Amino acid sequence: MTEASKARLEAGASALDIVEYAVAEMESSGLYVAGRGSAPNTAGYVELDASIMNGATREAGAVAAIVGVVNPIRVARRVMQATPHVMLAGHGALAFARKQGFEEVSDPGAYYVLPVGVYENEVHEQKHGTVGAVALDLSGGLAAATSTGGTFGKLEGRVGDSPMIGAGTWADDDIAISCTGTGEHIIRAGGAISVAHKVRAGATPEAAIDEMLAEVRRLGGDGGVIAVTPDGNIVMTYNSEGMKRASVSSDTPVSVATFEVGSH
Ligand code: ASP
Repeated sequence: MTEASKARLEAGASALDIVEYAVAEMESSGLYVAGRGSAPNTAGYVELDASIMNGATREAGAVAAIVGVVNPIRVARRVMQATPHVMLAGHGALAFARKQGFEEVSDPGAYYVLPVGVYENEVHEQKHGTVGAVALDLSGGLAAATSTGGTFGKLEGRVGDSPMIGAGTWADDDIAISCTGTGEHIIRAGGAISVAHKVRAGATPEAAIDEMLAEVRRLGGDGGVIAVTPDGNIVMTYNSEGMKRASVSSDTPVSVATFEVGSH
């Protein structure tokens, strides 16, 4: 998927198309806590959150607590492009997805699987995960997208940072950002927009991200951030136990890691 994203970018695809594509692939894979790899809430069914943002235009779309769609990120993008709104939630989000003809999960019991590294007895613990993508395209456009099944054992209706523009996702002319971690703490720490504001005020992305993550930690959570800036600087850092991540650029090969670099 990382290689395929690179090829598409080299062929002229927009950053927006690439982040949607990458996140949709991860949602469908069942390997991560998003889309197919999501666990049910305490009421016994899967609710998903996703958001996407185009840096150059500042257009954004999101769905929160949506039920039964295969690719929430695609619905989020359609919210952005086909409605005057930024976010649709719950029943309304599903009604919109249906009207727009998005693929639905026909048999949830058979469709949803435990993602890699999560076991049946942990489903009611506070495990969590998210998928995210940030991209810079050939014309200098930035975009970010984030999708999650949220925290395991979450209350029905719980919404984290991931679908909130400014918390879990942000893109403008200076930076594209996608966050992961304990959503409640990311929201309370100011999330992605606090990073963007610091960068606009002159901070390096690394310093701005470290500061936000330190605040997440101070509040009792942990997390990670992926970001890219117009000069092609890719930042992937976290203060959680690990963060599965991959990057590629026109002059660097695909690199993949889970632990070590960036851990502190
Ligand atoms: N931020 C996500 C949420 O709170 C979970 C995660 O990224 O691990 O829903």
